[in-house]
Amino acid sequence: MDCSICLKTVYFVEKVEANGRPYHKSCFKCTESGCRLTLANFHYCEGRLFCPKHVPKLQAIVRLGIIQEAA
Ligand SMILES: [Zn+2]
Ligand SMILES: [Zn+2]
Repeated sequence: MDCSICLKTVYFVEKVEANGRPYHKSCFKCTESGCRLTLANFHYCEGRLFCPKHVPKLQAIVRLGIIQEAA
């Protein structure tokens, strides 16, 4: 299987599977600023990974009809 981020082969020992996709441990990090992620706290948005702090909030904001700065 190929890593969903760098598209190189993922071997078992370095594999993290999240959202049904394989990742290298080293690639499984926040797209925004490389924050460390765990299987418990990662967010998946448009093919990219984010930590809880940097996940895009636009969808939630639109749904609520409220404009506010993400903290
Ligand atoms: Zn990778
Ligand atoms: Zn982050």
